Amino acid sequence: MAARTSRVLHRSLRETPPKAIGGEGIYLFAEDGRRIIDASGGAAVSCLGHQHPRVIAAMAKQASTLAYAHTAFFSSEPAEALAETLVGHEPGGLAYAYFVSGGSEAIEASIKLARQYFLERGEPQRQHFIARRQSYHGNTLGALAAGGNAWRRAPYAPLLSAAFSHVTPAFAYHEKHDSESDAQFVARLAAELESEFQRLGPETVAAFLAEPVVGATAGAVTAPDGYFRAMREICDRHGALLILDEVMCGMGRTGTTHAWEQEGIAPDIQAIAKGLGGGYQPIGAMLASGKVIDTIRAGSGAFQHGHTYLAHPLACAAALAVQEVIREDGLLDCVKERGRQLEQRLTERFGNHRHVGDIRGRGLFWAIELVADRASRASFDPALKLHQKIKAEAFANGLGCYPGGGTVDGVRGDHVLLAPPYIASADEIDLIVDKLGSAVDNVLRSANH
Ligand code: PMP
Repeated sequence: MAARTSRVLHRSLRETPPKAIGGEGIYLFAEDGRRIIDASGGAAVSCLGHQHPRVIAAMAKQASTLAYAHTAFFSSEPAEALAETLVGHEPGGLAYAYFVSGGSEAIEASIKLARQYFLERGEPQRQHFIARRQSYHGNTLGALAAGGNAWRRAPYAPLLSAAFSHVTPAFAYHEKHDSESDAQFVARLAAELESEFQRLGPETVAAFLAEPVVGATAGAVTAPDGYFRAMREICDRHGALLILDEVMCGMGRTGTTHAWEQEGIAPDIQAIAKGLGGGYQPIGAMLASGKVIDTIRAGSGAFQHGHTYLAHPLACAAALAVQEVIREDGLLDCVKERGRQLEQRLTERFGNHRHVGDIRGRGLFWAIELVADRASRASFDPALKLHQKIKAEAFANGLGCYPGGGTVDGVRGDHVLLAPPYIASADEIDLIVDKLGSAVDNVLRSANH
């Protein structure tokens, strides 16, 4: 029998990661005495860093007042206040918030709300959802079916609903032809979405689902200008909804509260999570437009979906405090300013690197992509698992960064994602890039590149 090191089922069933025993600011402390810079905020979660005193105080106050009340019986003060903060001003027409425990649940709720909306409108035939390849929308079965990450889907393929189909992502580095302008690339992707609507029958499509800035599967991929306006126009023309997944890229990560603000469009339904609660509590939310909710209110009058921990008071209080700190401390400006610095430093450090093909991102959400050959953009052999090696090397040297790729779709190369807390100082941003540079070079050197 293999040696057992922990009763907790970790991601690896062979290795137990070191225990985190504390944190402060952008640092996490491991039991072996190491200080790790949390340069990806876990997976773009810890937007305020660790142990923020105002968030801790708000949580302590809420915990001593009311930790939990079931939503079949009660609302709560923090849930009402958080919803008011998020959608009281109806950004882009989003007027209601449904609080769940994380990103996957927010996506499940979004898919089901879209379906129920059309049922209540008398359009039961709308049962198809179009998403994109190389996307990630969560690991529960509905969210996994929506996602286009071939590697994550493969083991569970027989369980995944056929209601989801996938089109080419707006991933310029790999998908745009050299001869194409951005506008031509957008036009080609729009034509592809249009033909997918036609293939399915436009009157059978419920929604198009996409991340404004792609996080987990491709690494901080921004869309070319005009892409989301084109997608919105196609959805509108066919009477379908636009669902945006801002689980990773939302809540200030790209410099505006919602990433879609920079695209000149707004969704009908939106999923948020990670930066909503900053990791202080497990919380996500579905935000929905008045149009969608009013239709259901006038029909059956109830969203046929629920969880035990909906709108958990302690989770809502933590998220409310996180959002207040972001607003009161002007942290969106910090994201923009430090984001520009991060872009500049990454460009200085990796712009001429022979094995870094792309440096991409927005706000404090950036990635570098490693290539065997810059001219052909050929990836390294996925079996080398370079992204994992860089993660391990960086971690050994006190830097936490988020690796990806290599095995995704078999071809799209290794990348490393950075998503530092919004409170990172200028010196800390420099240190992050220095440490990442050393990790990349050390790994490539030991792989003989
Ligand atoms: N959507 C996106 C874009 C994500 O990045 C993630 C998590 N990485 C999810 C959904 C799922 O969120 P969770 O892990 O909180 O269920």
